[in-house]
Parts: sequence; C-alpha cells; structure tokens
Amino acid sequence: MGDSSATSRGAAFSVTFHGVRGSTPCHGNDIIRYGGNTSCVSVLSPGSQPILFDLGTGLRYFGRECLTRDTRFVGTCLLTHSHFDHTQGLPFFAPLLNPDTVFTVHGPRQDDGMTVKAMFDKLVSPPLFPVGLDRIPGTIDFVDTDEGDFFIDRVNVRARLIPHVGPTLGYRLDFDGRSIAYLPDHQQPKDGSHGISDAARELVDGVDLLIHDSQYTPEEFARKADWGHCTAEYAVWVATTHGVKNLALFHHDPSRSDDALDARLSCLRSVGAAAGCNVFAAHEGQTVLV
Ligand SMILES: [Zn+2]
Ligand SMILES: [Zn+2]
Repeated sequence: MGDSSATSRGAAFSVTFHGVRGSTPCHGNDIIRYGGNTSCVSVLSPGSQPILFDLGTGLRYFGRECLTRDTRFVGTCLLTHSHFDHTQGLPFFAPLLNPDTVFTVHGPRQDDGMTVKAMFDKLVSPPLFPVGLDRIPGTIDFVDTDEGDFFIDRVNVRARLIPHVGPTLGYRLDFDGRSIAYLPDHQQPKDGSHGISDAARELVDGVDLLIHDSQYTPEEFARKADWGHCTAEYAVWVATTHGVKNLALFHHDPSRSDDALDARLSCLRSVGAAAGCNVFAAHEGQTVLV
C-alpha cells in the first residue's frame, strides 16, 4: 500500500477518504488535520466505474472533484446503513444536477419492508429538505440489497450483515488479487470483550486494507456499550487476528481532537506493528493505493 494522490498505476484500488468522522459533522481548529465531514470513501479501480462507500457529508467534496473531470457521473454507492452520518450528503452531490448522471445506490433491505428508495424519499423531501428527490435531474437507482456476492464491472463485491443498530451491511471488494473491507459502524460485544461474527470475519479475513469503526476509548465504550460501535483497540484486535495488512481507523468520534487521535494512534500502531499490521488513522483528503 502506498500513499499518493497522483496515480493508481500498478495498484488495484485507489482509495480516497472524503469524510472520516462518525455521528455528526463537526468543525474547529482542533480537528483541522483529520477533518469533520462524515463517512464517505471513494474507490477507483482500473476498468471499473467509481465505487463509493456511504453518502455522508464528505460526498460533497468527492462531487466537486468529479466536476473537474466531467459533469456527468456514472458510479455506484455501497451504503452500509441509513443513519444520518452515512446518508446526508446525497442531495449535495453536484453531479446529480446533470440529467445524464446515473448513480446506483445499494443499501440494506429494511426489517419493516421500507425500501431504500422510500427511505431516501422521506429524508430528502419537504419540510426536511426544500425539494423532493424527484426534482433532481440525474437518475438515482436504489437497490434493496441482501447479503450476497455480486460484481460491479470487474470488482467482486461481498455484502454481509454486521452488528450495529438497525440493518447494516459491511462490504468487501476484491480485484486483481487485492482486497478492501469497509465496516464503519461495528458493534463490539457489549461486555467489552473481543469476538466477531462469522459474517464480519468473512469480510475482513486477510484483506490488504480494512477501514474500520474506531469511535470509542475503552472508558467511553463502558458508558455507551450498546450504541453500536467499538473501541479502536477492538479494531486493532480484529485486524491483527485476521491477517489484515493495513488498518485505517475510521468513524472518529466528533469529540476527538487531532492531538487526542495522534496520542491514541501512537500506542495502537505499535500493537499493530508487533503483529505485522500497519495501523493509521484516516484523514480527510488522504489517498492510499492498494
Ligand atoms: Zn455512523
Ligand atoms: Zn450508524
């Protein structure tokens, strides 16, 4: 894995973090380096359309980059779940203003039978938003998605339900012998122990890059054990016990300052390194090659 914003030659995936924060967008001088936008990651791969993980407020910045290349956009989002911090960016995705844009959005099938389209129609409509999705010129194809394996062009996608609050999919991408897993919101066993579901294991096993929830410190987790998240220590455990090569700590708590993140990272990096895993904390604007 390399760090670059220039080229993806020789890499199977070019992964860019547009929003790395959990729960709510935030701002301030103390979070300027890691950034305050919520979950959105783009994945570019030779011979395949762009793939996005989630539609948080970081999506707006990915949209701005797209417009420097072409106002038309054809791509797919793999949405993990319906919480605000993963969905709010959709109506601010500027390429949707082009009627030739086609954006496919896979999201988990809901327990109550509500479709992903109905869910977004509810989120993006008066009085919560000035206009409904039907007024957006581009085409958005919503796909109710179950656990399974499918292809987006040349990239193999694995979708599995993982523990969080409400139906939540984690994803794994495989192409050309490289792999990425994305589990931004992942409930750790509520007693604070380390353990993992079979489904989550199928996603993370041996991947080159794991992008994983790291919202809490152990002290915070003790107070919020059933809020659907985990500690960064848990993320490192998941990575080091499943042969993960690189771990991106992700979904940073909105209260975590840059300095506090750096301090947490320095001890977690050495735990990872001892098991052969490179641990880093994802920041906005960062591109990694896998
Ligand atoms: Zn979240
Ligand atoms: Zn969530």
